[in-house]
Amino acid sequence: MGILIKNGTLVTALDTWTGDLRCVAGSIQALGTDLEAAADDTVIDASGQYVFPGGLDPHVHMELPFMGTISADDFETGTAAGVAGGTTSIIDFVIPGRGDSLLDALAAWHAKADKSVADYAFHMAVTWWGDETAEWMRRCVQEEGIPSFKTFMAYRGAIGVDDPELIEIMRCARELDGLVTVHAEHGDMVVDLQNKLMAEGHSAPKYHARSRPAPLEGEATARAIMLARMTREPLYVVHVTCVQALNAIAEARGRGQAVYGETCPQYLLLDDSVYDQPDFAGAAYVMSPPIRPKGHQEPLWAALRSGLLQVVATDHCPFNQAGQKEMGKDDFRLIPNGAAGIQHRLALLYTYGVLEGRLDLNQFVDLTSTRAAKLFGLYPRKGSLTVGADADIVVWDPAASGTISASTHHHRCDRNIFEGFATKGAPSTVVAGGRIQFQDGDLRVERGAGRYLKRTTT
Ligand SMILES: [Zn+2]
Repeated sequence: MGILIKNGTLVTALDTWTGDLRCVAGSIQALGTDLEAAADDTVIDASGQYVFPGGLDPHVHMELPFMGTISADDFETGTAAGVAGGTTSIIDFVIPGRGDSLLDALAAWHAKADKSVADYAFHMAVTWWGDETAEWMRRCVQEEGIPSFKTFMAYRGAIGVDDPELIEIMRCARELDGLVTVHAEHGDMVVDLQNKLMAEGHSAPKYHARSRPAPLEGEATARAIMLARMTREPLYVVHVTCVQALNAIAEARGRGQAVYGETCPQYLLLDDSVYDQPDFAGAAYVMSPPIRPKGHQEPLWAALRSGLLQVVATDHCPFNQAGQKEMGKDDFRLIPNGAAGIQHRLALLYTYGVLEGRLDLNQFVDLTSTRAAKLFGLYPRKGSLTVGADADIVVWDPAASGTISASTHHHRCDRNIFEGFATKGAPSTVVAGGRIQFQDGDLRVERGAGRYLKRTTT
């Protein structure tokens, strides 16, 4: 009972060729031309279509307790929305509270993630440093399949860490061959600006962006890079949004330091005029870092093209306008930070990256799947079209077109920050875990079919 995909244009991070691919029992079993179908195979004619390795989104937050509420997609609905858009695996973040055991938090995340329809892995956020933290980190890497750690330089007083804590985390990760990832914003300066703006009576969503301007991200990125340099720890900077941060990363990489960077479609495609929308509509775009002024977007595209940034993720973390974003109606500091994105990552990057000539198809696959799989210890099981790899495959119809809308998306959220955006290209078939889970607009996912992915150090 295999699946035979015939006559597609197979695209990996390196190669493009026309041929067939056959999956059996959840793995890719053969690649070639004129492959024979077994009697009970499902045969998919992919003529005129692309065949990509399934997308991997290494930055999502399903049912995350945050800012007094819980992100609106759970692991089932969020991974289902991913499958509908060609993303067949995710890496979510276990985020313990300050003072909480990392391993207790991990158990809680496993319980929530059990209902995922697609495969999932975890990063571990280290939100404080105590006597047991080093041992918990060791167990994450050596026993739990979690070789990457998230740190927040923002969110001071909650999940953010200070510099001495960050140094301890980097030293410990270095000993374990783990990778530290960082949310880089100057947390104390954010708090100061937030309080100043509110004291002046500026409570609207647009002041969220004013309270976290690009220089705060640039400084924190440079500081994290310096600390990583001194501790000899590789560093992955999540959601890079601005020229200042790009410059810091370029300087480090130019010296040969192992620094990697990720951005997200919202930072490539939106500018801060979104915050000027009337009637609190700008709250939908409240996320951290915020959407930047015009002038930052093209340098981010250039950074993807040149390899300065290696990954496009989403930071998928939806909150409904009704009942959630509204919590900050009179105080932007109380608007839950985050937005939905997992379903449209591939379509947006294809439409505005590949078709606009900013990226080629191989770069597209590298940015949406392969590089994250390599950096985070999932390659070649994920991110590749090779014999033995997981049967996570996207058949991509370049002739499809659509318009993004909250009224039709699979995100469990009443807003879409890309509302009205035209897209070209879409998955016609998505195979995840060896099963056809999406075909011609029909989502056929199965609650709990996703497996936990233990990762390895790289
Ligand atoms: Zn995030």
